[in-house]
Amino acid sequence: MKLSIKPFELAMEHPFTISGYTRTVHTTILVQIEHQGYIGYGEGSPMRYLGETPDSITAFLQQVQLEQFNDPLQIEEILAYTDQLAPGNTTAKTAVDIALHDLAGKLQQRPCYGMFGALPQHMPPTTLTIGIDTPEMVCRKIKEAKGFQRVKIKLGSDNDYGILKAVFEETDLPVCVDANQGWKDRQQALDMITWLHEKKVLFVEQPMNKDDIDGNAWITEHSPVPIIADEAVQRLNSLHALKGAYNGINIKLVKCTGMAEASKMITEARKLDMQVMIGCTTETSCGIMAGAALAPLCDWADLDSPWLITNNPFGTPTLHNGRLVLNDEPGLGLVSK
Ligand code: MG
Repeated sequence: MKLSIKPFELAMEHPFTISGYTRTVHTTILVQIEHQGYIGYGEGSPMRYLGETPDSITAFLQQVQLEQFNDPLQIEEILAYTDQLAPGNTTAKTAVDIALHDLAGKLQQRPCYGMFGALPQHMPPTTLTIGIDTPEMVCRKIKEAKGFQRVKIKLGSDNDYGILKAVFEETDLPVCVDANQGWKDRQQALDMITWLHEKKVLFVEQPMNKDDIDGNAWITEHSPVPIIADEAVQRLNSLHALKGAYNGINIKLVKCTGMAEASKMITEARKLDMQVMIGCTTETSCGIMAGAALAPLCDWADLDSPWLITNNPFGTPTLHNGRLVLNDEPGLGLVSK
């Protein structure tokens, strides 16, 4: 098995702003694992708050010696090896995990979702995420959201009410909200959430700083809508501490080292009676189809990145009734352009 690494600069359709920063271009790391003429594709796209960069991901991946393994189907062993190479580096580890699953699917002639017992017909609708912007631009992006049946609005700006009023005038689509830790006062946050409940908002993600466990737990206790942890949850071992503090978790492959651990997190979250969302960062169809393979096991999906970038090196996934379509192709089911 041979691993190759390629940084790739993604261009955003619109500048993308969340509470705290804006991006217009974004470098993701694409990998390939080759074995006996088969190629598995993987991706690790850095998220700013995880502390990884294109350089750190590349440096980690350069240490990964897959030549020592003869059988790509030994996924657990290979992932245990990459995990112990260094702590952290979850995004770099995700690139290997995704490529191995794609490769294993191709070798076994079965789709990745089948490896996890996910059924395509259980795919939840995916949200289209709208970054922080002027109310006019937010509405323009909603108008452009063709094919999507849910929108997720990023808040945590100084004009949250202005943005939301424009959204509720613009669309009848179900709305979800992500504050990205941007709310500072628990009572003000709860007042906002109570109003959002009247507007039939489906859930609110990460209202306050991830380290403010009491503040987020207080909001969850009083909130009429589900409160979902995102920045507060990373790997499997972070899950138990969140029981009671949130109603659910947003799993992102790059936070938790990939598909193998994400599937364990879904199982564990169910045992804890927590809802599950599968989310994404700015990434190509490769990372998205890896998340999509697990999405039928989740309550919510936020896998919209291919529609927010202009130079996806892979074909854009198919949307049907606002849901990503899982095809019968072996592996991730990536299509070429
Ligand atoms: Mg989020």
